Amino acid sequence: MNLKTTICLGLGTNIGDRKDNLTRAIEKLSLAFGKCQAASSFIETEPWGFESSNSFLNCAVMFKTELSPLQVLDATEEIERELGRTVKSDGRIYHDRIIDIDILLYGREIVKEERLTVPHPLMHKRMFVLQPLAEISPDAIHPVLGKSIKELLEELREQ
Ligand code: ADP
Ligand code: MG
Repeated sequence: MNLKTTICLGLGTNIGDRKDNLTRAIEKLSLAFGKCQAASSFIETEPWGFESSNSFLNCAVMFKTELSPLQVLDATEEIERELGRTVKSDGRIYHDRIIDIDILLYGREIVKEERLTVPHPLMHKRMFVLQPLAEISPDAIHPVLGKSIKELLEELREQ
């Protein structure tokens, strides 16, 4: 019996050595969750939702885990802290960041907790999330919208 759930995480960074930040985050995630099942290429994107002259490097990664959604969040927040992230976003106020790790998908589960909403509530509106995610998991289904990542990406491109 396989009790592991496939999870997809979205990573972003816009300060410091961005390639190194993503690489180190993936290494630490592999220590927490085991072998990385898939990693997208690193894509350069403009800041979304706030003004900054520092552009982002984004990627998406896939792991399998027995941890619960909130345990996954604890692990990813710990890694954000280890990599030196100090400021959390407050509501919709965004900041430059060394590393941001968002839980995009936790299998096909829908999670609505105070600390955690999965699928990530803005993922279907963000090219910098869907594009790398479609590289590693085009056929994954968004359990709220009932559409595949590939379909959501096509819809966003048409807008
Ligand atoms: P953002 O990613 O929006 O820039 P932060 O990384 O600072 O902002 O996260 C703000 C809060 O979002 C976190 O404290 C976390 O509890 C919450 N959160 C809700 N859903 C998710 C999710 N799917 N993945 C990561 N964090 C989430
Ligand atoms: Mg985040």
